[in-house]
Amino acid sequence: MSRVVKVEPFILTIGRDTPYLGALRKGEEKNEKGYFVRKGNKTVYLDKDRTVLVRVETESGAVGWGETYGLVAPRATTEIISDLVADFVVGRDPADAAGIHDFLYDLMRVRGYSGGFYLDALAAVDIALWDAAGKEAGKSVADLLGGRLHDTVPCYVSGLPKPTLEERVAFALEWQAKGYNSFKFAATVADDGNVKEMSELRAALGADAKISCDMHWAHTPESAIENIQAMQPYDLWFAEAPIVTEDMPGLAKIAQAVDTPIAVGEEWRTLYDANYRFDLNAVHIVQPEMGHTGITEFARIAREAHSRGIPLLPHATIGSGIFLAASLQTGLAMEGLIGHEFQHSIFNRNTGLITDGLKCSEGAYTVADSPGIGIEPTEDLISQLEPA
Ligand code: MG
Repeated sequence: MSRVVKVEPFILTIGRDTPYLGALRKGEEKNEKGYFVRKGNKTVYLDKDRTVLVRVETESGAVGWGETYGLVAPRATTEIISDLVADFVVGRDPADAAGIHDFLYDLMRVRGYSGGFYLDALAAVDIALWDAAGKEAGKSVADLLGGRLHDTVPCYVSGLPKPTLEERVAFALEWQAKGYNSFKFAATVADDGNVKEMSELRAALGADAKISCDMHWAHTPESAIENIQAMQPYDLWFAEAPIVTEDMPGLAKIAQAVDTPIAVGEEWRTLYDANYRFDLNAVHIVQPEMGHTGITEFARIAREAHSRGIPLLPHATIGSGIFLAASLQTGLAMEGLIGHEFQHSIFNRNTGLITDGLKCSEGAYTVADSPGIGIEPTEDLISQLEPA
């Protein structure tokens, strides 16, 4: 056993020319900090990419890296780690990452911290501990979780960040020509409506393409049912996040009314979040986000989903590549894995920030079978870290 001697959080800011999901639209303006609100989903975004990283070190010198959301108020998360969590992790064995996660979760349960920034902090620490544990053992995280069950992970192209439908269709065709045949469009920026977007994409991409719609929590149960049913004739692969996450009975109502699979899960932190919805038969495809769950809760959600016959299609968000590698590495050991989201505007930019172990080409990801999560931050990334 080699105990943890250090836990350090950092903030990483990465510039981008065009904001995530594309240029600002009419009526969307950024404030002096770079924050702006997408009218389509009432959600705050940032004009650059930003993420929170965690580095843990053991007494034998093994270093593990973790990552969580840092787009908004990153110092809330880093402060939780540096003020509270780090001291409770020092002295523990990283091989007990799941036990450490549960211990940390219990610390704040009675105060109601069962989600949000607290659980994001725990997710980053958890990934870093699993990474360190793998390096101590000389095994990949997939091996620590029972071994790889898949060689590659099929992916779908997510978001078509172009200003007009015509350009979005052309952009999807470019990706199809590169060997990608699964797609998801974002309702938030589908200005002509989801049905029009779906029908035009189907006409251009052909019958074999998989096309899904991220509905961005914008509907009532009734309008979601109507909208999904209107997309069904165009063979909608899945309908994602049709209504606000709090309305679980409403989600169940939609899931039972439509033929299209309902996909949710990107905002969850724990197996509790999953089971509330699973028990209502409200979920057909589960989309956990490693940056919110960490490896421990991700694996718990994936295994529970599989036991109920629900396939696993993890979410991908704005990051350096660390939590994406952790997500793929963990997914490879999960029986129900059917694919993974691919955020081209983030993934391709991360080349140079992480070592070579993570690839995506012709519609599938691979991640190196090396100890831990399979990749390392490069010197270039490390030189850009802001201690927090
Ligand atoms: Mg989504």
